[in-house]
Amino acid sequence: MNQMSPAAALAGLPITPRLPALFVGHGSPMNAILDTPYSRAWRALGESLPKPQAILCVSAHWTTKGETLVDVSDRPPTIHDFGGFPQRLFEQVYPALGAPPYANAVSRLVKSARVQPDRNWGFDHGSWGVLLQMYPHADIPMFQLSLDLAKSPLEHYRLAQELRLLRERGLLIVASGNLIHNLYAMNQSGKAYPWAVEFDAKAAEYIKNRDIARLIALGTEGQLAQLANPTIEHFLPVLYALGAAEDADELTFFNEGIDLGAISMRSFVLA
Ligand code: ZN
Repeated sequence: MNQMSPAAALAGLPITPRLPALFVGHGSPMNAILDTPYSRAWRALGESLPKPQAILCVSAHWTTKGETLVDVSDRPPTIHDFGGFPQRLFEQVYPALGAPPYANAVSRLVKSARVQPDRNWGFDHGSWGVLLQMYPHADIPMFQLSLDLAKSPLEHYRLAQELRLLRERGLLIVASGNLIHNLYAMNQSGKAYPWAVEFDAKAAEYIKNRDIARLIALGTEGQLAQLANPTIEHFLPVLYALGAAEDADELTFFNEGIDLGAISMRSFVLA
């Protein structure tokens, strides 16, 4: 087990004012290149937040089973992990550098899991799709941490708590998923299903109250959970934003709304 003290784990990283932690509902990959109400809010965020030294993105689209990986590569490639979209989306490249000093610090800092270095991933559309709008110049080093699907939601939350200190070392944490993500139920009329409205309202209340136990139960137990998230990977990132929160952080929702009837775009800033 990792025995290193936090001070030793963070050695070499600058001490900074505490950076925010974000949860971003990313929705359709097209938000990466279209001017939508959602992408407009991402751009505004990039313009208003204090500039980080590096960005850690925990994306719904990098899942592993039985291990937690962190990308330590110098130049992570852009991954086009989707199909059936216009060529223009496949041509997008997000050329931000990786952030090996920060990625290695994550490995040293986290004790609840063995976080293993990896060089086989890059930026999936859960990360670059948002960051292309937030920081279009790609001038902030970025790296991703995988979601180990063998872990319970509470274990994800606890792992995220161990990342808190990095916010005072210049790191912006961007958790990217969707509170509700049911691709089978999507409809072009855009009218939100009653179950989606109910789930989203309850999630908002529990997030606002930082009621992690109720939020996890909502996301994992019963028929409402099944309807909202037939699979759990888009829900899990919210636990990373909340886990990285300090009691003193204020929570501000943005992009509230349900896209295509079954995708909650609700997002928040903790700062
Ligand atoms: Zn997604």
